[in-house]
Amino acid sequence: MNTLKISNVSKIYQTKNKKKFYALKNINLDFPNNGLVSIVGKSGSGKSTLLNLIAMLDSPSEGELYYMGRSYSSFKRKEKPSFYQNEIGIVFQNFNLIQEKTVLYNVTLPLLIKGIKKNKAEELAIKALDKVGIKVDQFSKLTSELSGGEQQRVGIARAIVSKPKILLCDEPTGHLDISNSIKVMDILKGISKERLVILVSHNLLLVKEYSDKIIYLSNGEVTKIDGRHKLKEIDIEPSSISKNNSKWTKDFFLSNFKKRFKRNLFTSFCLVISFSMFILVSGFINGKDKSISNTCYRQFNYGSGSISKEEKVSGTGMLNLTKSIRPTINELRNNKKITNLFEICPNFSTILYQNLTICYDEQPINELDYKPIYSFKNDYVDSSLIIDGYIPKADSLKEVVINQFAKELIKKKIGKEPVGEYLTIKSKFTNNYVTEDEEYITDIFNFEQSVRIVGVVKELNYLSSEKIYFSHLALEDYFHSSIMFNLSTYNGYDISWFDYVINSPDISIITSYSYNLFLKDYRFRDTLVKDIDFGNSLSFSSESLLLTNSLKDFVDVAEYGIILFTIISFVGSVLILGIMSFVSYSEDRKTSAILTFLGSRDKDILDIYLGESFINGLISLVLSIVFSILLEKIINLIIHKNIELSNLIQIPFISLFGIKFIFPILLLLFVVIVVFLATSIPILFSKFKNVKEELQSL
Ligand code: ADP
Ligand code: MG
Repeated sequence: MNTLKISNVSKIYQTKNKKKFYALKNINLDFPNNGLVSIVGKSGSGKSTLLNLIAMLDSPSEGELYYMGRSYSSFKRKEKPSFYQNEIGIVFQNFNLIQEKTVLYNVTLPLLIKGIKKNKAEELAIKALDKVGIKVDQFSKLTSELSGGEQQRVGIARAIVSKPKILLCDEPTGHLDISNSIKVMDILKGISKERLVILVSHNLLLVKEYSDKIIYLSNGEVTKIDGRHKLKEIDIEPSSISKNNSKWTKDFFLSNFKKRFKRNLFTSFCLVISFSMFILVSGFINGKDKSISNTCYRQFNYGSGSISKEEKVSGTGMLNLTKSIRPTINELRNNKKITNLFEICPNFSTILYQNLTICYDEQPINELDYKPIYSFKNDYVDSSLIIDGYIPKADSLKEVVINQFAKELIKKKIGKEPVGEYLTIKSKFTNNYVTEDEEYITDIFNFEQSVRIVGVVKELNYLSSEKIYFSHLALEDYFHSSIMFNLSTYNGYDISWFDYVINSPDISIITSYSYNLFLKDYRFRDTLVKDIDFGNSLSFSSESLLLTNSLKDFVDVAEYGIILFTIISFVGSVLILGIMSFVSYSEDRKTSAILTFLGSRDKDILDIYLGESFINGLISLVLSIVFSILLEKIINLIIHKNIELSNLIQIPFISLFGIKFIFPILLLLFVVIVVFLATSIPILFSKFKNVKEELQSL
């Protein structure tokens, strides 16, 4: 069987004025299994076009080519690498060696692509180099350091190293002087004893001496065939099946990375910015809630609030009128959510606060707030907030704690340190009671306490309101022991102010429509931050919670902006990486074309650029991690200084969602995806460019 058969092949190009131009016209040729067959003709006669068709670098407009009886058109794209690896070797006029690699590497490469181990491949490459007369001392030179004749011999060594069945040579002596030309021709002649060598040349004189058969081409048509020798047909052993191996691509992406170091540095710089943004934003999302909570927890009465009930008064649909009433005590006591977390206490604010004055030495200090906490005992207050003095050991109205704002204020008013000093708290409330007999009974609640300031707590700076904290339990005792004399006399038994508040109707002014709730343990305060719903139209309100929630809303709004910004920077970095790999790929297009005819797969070539981008990605990732840890510290410091939130950004390197080290793994995955998309998409779009033209260009 013929190795190669060309049947009715034409190649038609469109000229500028849309006319058909036949570069080849109806070619019919049979080739033997061995011998040197030359195709000669003037420049422009179609020789290279024909050779490109045989080399599968181009496809015919009409007709068909057959390799070992199999039509070229039946070769799928996937099968071509194997065709180049085993069946065909190509030698070019302009050598098409990889300039930045050594002589030995150039010849070893086709074998590496075939999946042959490096040692074995080098051994075979040395044999091939020996065959074309390249000396050992030339092996480690770059091909650009060799003379033209030497380069062409390296080109031949590379083409024959995989023992192809056909060797195609397009003007192999075109750029050589006469003595080098003769050397090359001698080598090709030798090779043609074992395989088919097809040689294209315009130098009939040189070719005539060596050729077994000469095909004359003129204006795209075969004009004459001279068969000078009868060729003996030899059997060709079937080619070994190659196992693909992409290890060799590493040789390229590493050297490409070095070659384009400055550009890669720039790409990495852009990526570092975008990755760091991404890491910091993750840190922000991870840290914000905790940071807000931790900051807001710096309020001594965080666990105090009041619970009231909304009752529908009238109206339907759009118009709904409600009023606040005090929930019944049983309703609260039967509510597990409430009793698990809170102490339920009566609210004395109407009585206590109506005419409250706080004085030092008869001098009123109006700015001070008198606020209840449940008790000074351990579980009720966060003692870490104390900065001066102490928290009272027992609940007594005689000892109070103030916050730092109150401390500053009092210090200014009295001209000395407030801790240890006494204040007087006064309140007077008049209660008028109308009996069933329409009799008026008046009782006066006369509260006057001399209290000693024993400690100072440091609270959140946003608040800047001056507070005195007293024990609600002590106040309750006081209300228990204060008897309403006139009402008691009327009723014939003792009624304390405590009883009076408790037994008042739930919509009476004196109940202030609510009960006070105090957290049983200040460490439960997390549960307050998550919107707790007690059901039954009960609503819990607390100053501290209001502040926490408004801070959260503010940060949430900021979050949208930050995320949008990150997405933009992410898209930007993908584009930059994409453009960079596209530019790099375009620069190396010739190398890619060379790798293609040496039998590398599309995937291998893509791997080279993926590899380069991946190094970029990895370097950027490491730098980003370092950079963002640094930024995390700086930004947190600035934020803390300005708005008091501490550790707003907490990059979850160690653990995320409770899973250890998941964040770095996710980051790596993210980088892999970015690198893969940004590199492969632009390259896939440009893949269909013509290999043939790249190889013929100088
Ligand atoms: P040569 O015998 O010198 O190797 P070629 O095979 O390179 O000749 O070219 C044969 C003819 O086809 C020439 O006239 C050339 O201009 C034309 N040709 C080759 N490639 C193209 C192309 N891509 N588009 C249009 N014309 C082409
Ligand atoms: Mg040519």
